Amino acid sequence: MIQITLPLGFLGTVYREIRQALVDMGEMFDLLDQPAEISDRADARPLKVTGGEVVLDHVGFGYTAERPILRDVSLTIPAGHTLALVGSSGSGKSTIGRLLFRFYDVTAGAIRIDGQDLRDVTQDSLHDAIGVVPQDTVLFNDTIRYNIAYGRDGATEDEVIAAAKAAKIHDFVMSLPEGYDTTVGERGLKLSGGEKQRVGIARTLLKNPPILLLDEATSALDTQTERDIQDSLRAMGEGRTVITIAHRLSTIADADCIVVLQKGQIAEQGRHDELLAKGGRYAAMWAAQQAEDLD
Ligand code: ADP
Ligand code: MG
Repeated sequence: MIQITLPLGFLGTVYREIRQALVDMGEMFDLLDQPAEISDRADARPLKVTGGEVVLDHVGFGYTAERPILRDVSLTIPAGHTLALVGSSGSGKSTIGRLLFRFYDVTAGAIRIDGQDLRDVTQDSLHDAIGVVPQDTVLFNDTIRYNIAYGRDGATEDEVIAAAKAAKIHDFVMSLPEGYDTTVGERGLKLSGGEKQRVGIARTLLKNPPILLLDEATSALDTQTERDIQDSLRAMGEGRTVITIAHRLSTIADADCIVVLQKGQIAEQGRHDELLAKGGRYAAMWAAQQAEDLD
């Protein structure tokens, strides 16, 4: 989607951070045309993450005053739990992700992390606390090492390799003639969708955020690759608070809580089994996907 072709090195930290934001957010949320208009309060403090509990407290939001998008959304994700957001296209899933990053302020209610209203903390500290694995990881025209090390300033070679191993991309990298020095991206080696996702996972592992926002791939990964990636994502979620925007219901059946959004409101929430037993919207979506999978 976005292409980054500028040479690196001479670029300063500020530019690097803007670009990181573009990579994290642009890819995931199609937000490149939406410059954030939010600024830190004069007395904003750094977010102090004690466990990573995320609370949406009667949240209302609209991009414009005329058209409300989210209405009275209340959710609690206890520290270390996994919440899956499902719902048809346009139901407001990505909007919740944008609000969690405070790309916009809520128009009613509040969002709190470990009891701190997002409007009271610095955006830098908020963004440090949340890791994003987008559907489609953007690679820079640079080495694989650079692309992974990008997750954290000052990462050492050992840390990069450890992250690559945990993301199960190390063996692949070592099989390349130039190893971690291999140039990837538009003008280098083209990685497959699954390999790119693994680079994204390695980056996020390096960043080591207490809260993860995952936008599940809808795109063409074969079933085995998708299953392997899901395993890696699940492993990464251990001990973190995870919000997954899910497209394939089969991958979220073990989530601690599944929330079904419908036109910006919570239609149902519960565990997979509870929602199936209810025979409502989730059960219908599940039946439809099962039927699709048999085709
Ligand atoms: P989902 O991720 O569930 O598909 P979104 O959260 O992206 O849904 O969108 C929810 C609603 O908000 C949609 O009707 C969409 O058209 C609208 N919307 C999304 N982004 C913007 C925006 N930047 N400006 C105005 N409306 C938007
Ligand atoms: Mg979306």
